[in-house]
Amino acid sequence: MTTYSAKVETHDVKERALVIILLGAPGSGKGTQSVEISHSFNLPHISTGDLFRENIKNQTEIGQKVKSYLDKGALVPDELVFDILFARISKADCSKGYILDGFPRTTLQAHKLEDLLSSSVHFAIFNLVVDDSAVIKRLSGRLVCKKCSRVFHKDSTPPKIEGVCDVCGEELYQRSDDNPEVIKERLRVYYEQTKPLEEYYKNKGQLTPINASGSPAEVLKTLKAKIQEMYPIL
Ligand code: ADP
Ligand code: ZN
Repeated sequence: MTTYSAKVETHDVKERALVIILLGAPGSGKGTQSVEISHSFNLPHISTGDLFRENIKNQTEIGQKVKSYLDKGALVPDELVFDILFARISKADCSKGYILDGFPRTTLQAHKLEDLLSSSVHFAIFNLVVDDSAVIKRLSGRLVCKKCSRVFHKDSTPPKIEGVCDVCGEELYQRSDDNPEVIKERLRVYYEQTKPLEEYYKNKGQLTPINASGSPAEVLKTLKAKIQEMYPIL
């Protein structure tokens, strides 16, 4: 596997924002790890899925437009994805960098991101690698915090108090697309549309694979060490 782990010159990172991209199947741990590294490195966590769910909950115009896609497990049309993403990354808190979780999801989205940003940012791109069987198990028992997006699992990482987030005390919920039928479709869409991205970034020498089959804490340790190795000033 081609891996990219060259250290980046310190002055470069200071001048440019750092955009950490987490790739991986649904259930590979992108959300779980993003929340943690967001706190560790003090960079905002931007999940296109969370942004869509927030808009659905608040019944915004964009929320009404994207709901049927999320319910089916299909990808949201690019135009809506870009609108919501670019509005978010142009906010002041993103000036030093941010973590992208769930974007890009197609090669076209990756191109668009590069066209827009590549001269002003550094990309650090990680691929969370895990078996399909683990993915299905993880997704079907997943519980997510309404407030801080932390992820728990009914069996493997249950919250201390049932239905309550250990960290912020808010209510946990099960995502409506975490049911067997929609999970199957999300995996199908992943293989068809998102998996080719691995090859794309690999060919550019930009992809760092991370073994994501261990516990959340183990994966976090590996990921943090890689980020620190590549960006020692963070
Ligand atoms: P997952 O656990 O499947 O990675 P996410 O929370 O990232 O879930 O995304 C949930 C849904 O939001 C996707 O199934 C899709 O409908 C939509 N979505 C999220 N990001 C994108 C994107 N970059 N392009 C198109 N659709 C997206
Ligand atoms: Zn919480």
